[in-house]
Amino acid sequence: MRNAGQTSRETNLGSVSPRFLIDGMLGSLARWLRICGYNVEYNVDKEDEELIEIALKGKHILLTRDKVLFQRAQKNEINVCYVTGKTITDRLRQVSSELELNLTPSTTRCPKCNGPLKNTDKNNIKNQIPPKTFETFQEFWLCTVCDSVYWKGGHWDNIQNTLNQANAKNPKV
Ligand SMILES: [Zn+2]
Repeated sequence: MRNAGQTSRETNLGSVSPRFLIDGMLGSLARWLRICGYNVEYNVDKEDEELIEIALKGKHILLTRDKVLFQRAQKNEINVCYVTGKTITDRLRQVSSELELNLTPSTTRCPKCNGPLKNTDKNNIKNQIPPKTFETFQEFWLCTVCDSVYWKGGHWDNIQNTLNQANAKNPKV
């Protein structure tokens, strides 16, 4: 589940979508933003200094829970967001409202490694999925970097629900 490479990814999605760099404490936020199709670099074992350097070079938006890193990033004029929410919904809501992102599930990026996904014929990945899944679903996506296989199973509704809550600017709770 580690990231597959430290080189910055190409932006071939046909838009100038932001690139994110996420500190080691926010792994699930990284996965969620990738589920929404965003290009997210996530490094568990990078020092603050390296993160600053990567963000400066790659013009990433840095998301962090680390106050010291946040302040250093500000001094370096990096676009940075200090993430305060406790739950993933809170964090997604904060990020979507501060950065004006529309969070919708997408099948363009691998949540595990950030690699681009491509549609694949299910016969190609038959031996990687349970027989029942093979029978039930028609559309599958394969990560071009780590070979993980994805489909829109029951979890897809949960993903949509969480994102709907995160997109709601005035949650009724
Ligand atoms: Zn992958």
